[in-house]
Amino acid sequence: MHTDLDPVPTDAVLPSRVDVVIIGGGILGVSTAYFLAKRGVSVALCEKGEIGAEQSSRNWGWVRKQGGDPSEIPLTLHSVELWNTMNEDIGAETGFRTCGSISLASSARDIAACEGWVDSVREYLPELGTKVLSKRELQDILPGAPRHFVGGLYTATDGRAEPQLAAPAIAKAARSRGAAVMTNCAVRGFETSAGRISGVVTEKGSIACGSVVLAGGAWCRIFCANMGIFFPQLKLRTSVMRTKPLEGGPETAAMAPGYSFRRRLDGGYTIGTGFMNYADLVPDSFRMLPLFWPTLRHEWSTIRVRLGRRFFDELTMPARWRLDGVSPFEAARILDPDPVVSDLDRVLETLSADFPVFRSAKIAKQWAGMIDVSPDAMPFLTAIPSTPGFFIATGFSGHGFGNGPGAGYLMADLVTGAKPHVNPHPFRFSRFTDGPRPEYHARV
Ligand SMILES: Cc1cc2nc3c(=O)[nH]c(=O)nc-3n(C[C@H](O)[C@H](O)[C@H](O)COP(=O)(O)OP(=O)(O)OC[C@H]3O[C@@H](n4cnc5c(N)ncnc54)[C@H](O)[C@@H]3O)c2cc1C
Repeated sequence: MHTDLDPVPTDAVLPSRVDVVIIGGGILGVSTAYFLAKRGVSVALCEKGEIGAEQSSRNWGWVRKQGGDPSEIPLTLHSVELWNTMNEDIGAETGFRTCGSISLASSARDIAACEGWVDSVREYLPELGTKVLSKRELQDILPGAPRHFVGGLYTATDGRAEPQLAAPAIAKAARSRGAAVMTNCAVRGFETSAGRISGVVTEKGSIACGSVVLAGGAWCRIFCANMGIFFPQLKLRTSVMRTKPLEGGPETAAMAPGYSFRRRLDGGYTIGTGFMNYADLVPDSFRMLPLFWPTLRHEWSTIRVRLGRRFFDELTMPARWRLDGVSPFEAARILDPDPVVSDLDRVLETLSADFPVFRSAKIAKQWAGMIDVSPDAMPFLTAIPSTPGFFIATGFSGHGFGNGPGAGYLMADLVTGAKPHVNPHPFRFSRFTDGPRPEYHARV
């Protein structure tokens, strides 16, 4: 296993009937389970591998309000509000701490992008508290920041949480509120009766239910395809490392084009590659290109395209399967790509040149993760109108850890028919077909 994931043992017995089945035990699935269970809804959470073992334990652990799409800000604000009380609410440690975050600016053009973002979210600024830092202000917040940074975008109330702790802790809290938590329990598909959801078939048996929430991360596309639903999704691969405890380093999380870092609860740092991601060519890369291109062309400089084994792995993966036979989810319990070690070496070199404290950092672990990506880099948090009772929660495209609790809360609203806490319209399934394509806002 790649990380020091806190294990969540499975329940012994599969429930025969619940109100809601949640597919996937990442941060979105466990948060949805928790907020539903808290409202007295009976829930079964089914995870094909271990709770949190894919993206939700591999990410950088940033919980940041700044830099996102303006239409997502209310969801993000609510999510951070939930993180602030989460440890107390669930009676366990998620590692959440407020630490502040900075996007470092190297040029006048970067500063203009920061100012442009602040302008685009002006109505939320009192709650966000985000500001554009001058060169001098940057030195006050991040002492010793190298002189080639001319300022940055800063939010003092941004935070961090520990990906190896958070999803397991929330899953256990959902269980203590009555949810069944099944691991090594792939859901092969759903069943319908008179056109609406009536249950799911798992590798351990069937569960009757009225609603299904698919929070399957990078697997949502193939799950939907087998159910006859077209779901647009691609994947990006990215590498990460963590250090052993390191004294004297910055407490504020920071990101520059070539690296990112944030303090960990154990005193070390989680270090990422900044905005550098790999797009492994797979058959879907070609099928999806027209839908993704309007966004991809903005992000092209941050993506490296590679042809490798994954092309053939995905080419030979069954596109259709029967629910009484083994599904692809059982054949790949945990997506565990290899990190690109040479990239991580380069990242540490650049980071150490900028912040000399990292010269003495001892690397404790390196790993990689597969980010699920939607065509406009915005999430789908939505009912699927063609199949009443079926919902999808995924697509955060690299920022779903911080938004996880807010997304889970919203899914609980949608499933129960409660008044949504935030407007779900920007996250609807039909947004690429019901009008002009949503405008893409590059993240800052
Ligand atoms: C390297 C990296 C860095 C990142 N950094 C950040 C960050 O700093 N901040 C941030 O906000 N976001 C970050 N992200 C993004 C964030 O991690 C994801 O958006 C978020 O974790 C997605 O959560 P999820 O629950 O949707 O998916 P996942 O965590 O991937 O969980 C989906 C789960 O569904 C299960 N599953 C799938 N199909 C089935 C099935 N049929 N039956 C049963 N189980 C199934 C899978 O096994 C998996 O465990 C990063 C991502 C990566 C990879």
